[in-house]
Amino acid sequence: MKYTDPSIGYSLWQNTVQEEDWKVALDFLIATLRDALIFDNFAIYITDKSGGTSEIAYARAIGRGKKAEADASWGEEIANKVIYNEEITLEVPKKSATNITDRVKEPYLIGLPLIASGKLIGVLTLVRFGGPEYKPGHIDLATLAAAVIAYIFEKRALQESIAELEAAQRQMRLQDDFVATISHELRTPLGFIKGYSTTLLREDTLWDEDTRREFLTIIDEETDHLTELIDNILESARLESGTVEMSFQPLRLDALIRDMITRVRARYPNLEVIFRSESSKIIQGDNTRLAQVFENLFSNALKYAPQSRIEITIKAINSSSIQVVFADNGDGIPAEHLPYIFDRFYRVPDHPGKTGTGLGLFICKRIIDVHHGKIWAESKKQKGTQFIIELPTQ
Ligand code: ADP
Repeated sequence: MKYTDPSIGYSLWQNTVQEEDWKVALDFLIATLRDALIFDNFAIYITDKSGGTSEIAYARAIGRGKKAEADASWGEEIANKVIYNEEITLEVPKKSATNITDRVKEPYLIGLPLIASGKLIGVLTLVRFGGPEYKPGHIDLATLAAAVIAYIFEKRALQESIAELEAAQRQMRLQDDFVATISHELRTPLGFIKGYSTTLLREDTLWDEDTRREFLTIIDEETDHLTELIDNILESARLESGTVEMSFQPLRLDALIRDMITRVRARYPNLEVIFRSESSKIIQGDNTRLAQVFENLFSNALKYAPQSRIEITIKAINSSSIQVVFADNGDGIPAEHLPYIFDRFYRVPDHPGKTGTGLGLFICKRIIDVHHGKIWAESKKQKGTQFIIELPTQ
C-alpha cells in the first residue's frame, strides 16, 4: 500500500486501536506503516510524569537499521529537540552519501511529538539511512501514525491506572473485612475467658472440683487461642515490614517434616498422613520458620479438608532445587479465589463457621520468599488442594 493510498489511514487505525496488548498494536502499526513508508529505525520515547527526561518505550530496527550499532541512539538527539520545541522536526545529513556502504552514516530523521489530551507525552522518531528525503506526504502519514501511537499510550496509562485503583480497592476491602474478622476473632475467646473467670469468682456459689477444672481448662485453651491469634497478627506485620530475623543453617527438609508429622500424629491420632521422600538434599533454612509453614498447612488441611488424608512428597526437581507437595483430598479451592489466597487477610468466603484471619498463607509465602523459594497452590473443586513449595538446595 502506497503512502498516497486513501485507505492507509483507515488501515492504520483499524489494525491497532482494537488490540488490547499495546506491543502487539505497535507491531501491527509498524507493519502497516512499513508497507507505505520507508524507514530503518523506529523508536518511541515516552516522557516521565513530570514531562522531563524521556525513556525509550519501544524501538525497532528494520532493514539497514539492523546494522546500526544502537537501535535507538540515532533518534535521541532529535527526540530531545522535539520535547523542547513540541513540533515536528526534520533532519538531513550534512552532505549526501556518495558510497552505498556509508549509508548508515547518512541518516534522514523525522521526530514527531506524541500528543495526548493536549499534552506532550513523548516522541516518535523515524530514521532512514541514506535517504531518500522525507516528503510532505510521508510526514502527513507519520503524523497520523504519531496520533495513533499517542492514543495507544494514553490507553495503556489508563489501563495501568485502572489496575492500580482496583488493587488499592481490593486491599481496602480486605482491610475492612479484616477489622470485622479480627474484632470477632479477638472478642470470642475474650468473651469465654471473661465469662468463665467471672463465674468462678462469684462469691455466692461454690463450685465442685470437676466444674472448676472444666472452666479453668476452657480459660486455658482460649488463652492459647488468643495468644496464637495475636502472634499471627504481629508476625504478619513484622514479615510485611521486613523486620523478622531469620537464622539460616543447613537442614534436611525430610527430617523437619518427619518431626512435624510425629507431633501432629500425637495430637490427632486419627489423621492419616502419608509421607514420601525422594530426596534428602540439604537446604539452607530457618528451622523454626519452615516448621511454621508446615504447621500452617496442617492446620488449614485440618480446618478446610476435615477427614481428609494428607500426602506429603519431597522431590528433587533438578540439581539446584527441591519441591515439597502437600496435598489433601478435601473440597478444594474454587478457581476464582486461587490467585488471592496468599494475599494478606484474604479468606475464601464460603466456609461458614470456620474461623480464621486470612494470615496463615500470607505468612507461609513471606517465609518461603525469604528462603528464595516459591509457594503456590493447585486445586480442583472436590478433588482437593495441593500446596507446592520449591526451595533452592544451594
Ligand atoms: P485462614 O485459614 O485464617 O482463613 P489462610 O491464609 O491460612 O487463612 O488461608 C486462606 C484461605 O485459603 C482460607 O480462608 C481457606 O478458604 C483457603 N484454604 C487454605 N487451605 C485450604 C485447604 N487445604 N483446602 C481448602 N481451602 C483452603
